[in-house]
Amino acid sequence: MLVRDLLKEKKPSISFEVFPPKRDLDIEGIFETIDQLKDLEPDFISVTYGAGGTSKDLTVDIASRVKKEMGIETIAHLTCATSSVEEVNATLDGLDQAGVHNVLALRGDIPPERRGEVNKPFTYASDLISHVKDRGTYSVGGACYPEGHLESSDLEADIRNLKKKADLGLDFLITQLFYDNETLFRFKDRLESHGIQTPLIAGILPVLNKKQIIRIQQLSGCTLPKKFLRILNRYEHDPAALKEAGTAYATEQIIDLLSWGVDGVHIYTMNKAETTRRIVESIGSIRKNLVRTL
Ligand code: FAD
Repeated sequence: MLVRDLLKEKKPSISFEVFPPKRDLDIEGIFETIDQLKDLEPDFISVTYGAGGTSKDLTVDIASRVKKEMGIETIAHLTCATSSVEEVNATLDGLDQAGVHNVLALRGDIPPERRGEVNKPFTYASDLISHVKDRGTYSVGGACYPEGHLESSDLEADIRNLKKKADLGLDFLITQLFYDNETLFRFKDRLESHGIQTPLIAGILPVLNKKQIIRIQQLSGCTLPKKFLRILNRYEHDPAALKEAGTAYATEQIIDLLSWGVDGVHIYTMNKAETTRRIVESIGSIRKNLVRTL
């Protein structure tokens, strides 16, 4: 099912993200993780694309197997900053043949040695979005940043650029992680004031360890609220306690988002099933009775 059609249904979507393993050899581990999550009936699973296209074949293979063999709808991430039209077309052809017709169209991060290069025709994600949409077969989503993209001078400038993507007819947006829901609520208001009505799926990353969160915070620039920092600091040397507290924090965040009426929640699983399972199991009744209100 195309994600644009799925999002027309009244219920908010619950979905997961996985990433291809660094080594091809570890690929079966991904399917074991997904197998452990399958009975939670995710609306879709998205498969990331390695920086600079390093995992492009794996992304296509994994998305294809998740859809065909496991019967779960998939979104394939696709980046363009370091790709030629031929490379992008080859990946799109692979996805088409595999029956994967949902694409998260991204610019990708530009490796330091390639910064400053003009990479026509794909300078921004909007160039890729137009290209994928021109092929007609795909439901196309894009990324967005509730606190602004790191390279943007400010959130307003980033939202103006986001509007260019939305105006191309994006079917959905998935947010970067955030730990303060108020940030997302304010962001949604600002999108509306710019006339951006694209369904908004909230990306949630349950904390696994302090080092990981600090690294992600440096890469993304996301704010860590005091309440969240207290948990990190208090339990950083007690992995089991941190996992428990992090799972509870993410669950509370998700319940609040669903109560508010978000279009969907996308859990960044980091290829680990246990935390995602616990979160989704603990919102069983809430999920059953969900109706989108925004
Ligand atoms: P864009 O939308 O092109 O924006 C990039 C920057 O350019 C922003 O600062 C924007 O304001 C600015 N900009 C956009 N258009 C214009 C314009 N016309 N003129 C001037 N400035 C402009 N990376 C991966 O490598 N693989 C993945 O699988 C992956 N998955 C992701 C999933 C999600 C949900 C998110 C939020 C990010 C993901 N990323 C992934 C990271 C992403 O590739 C980086 O954040 C990248 O730096 C920006 O990608 P984008 O698609 O948001 O770019």
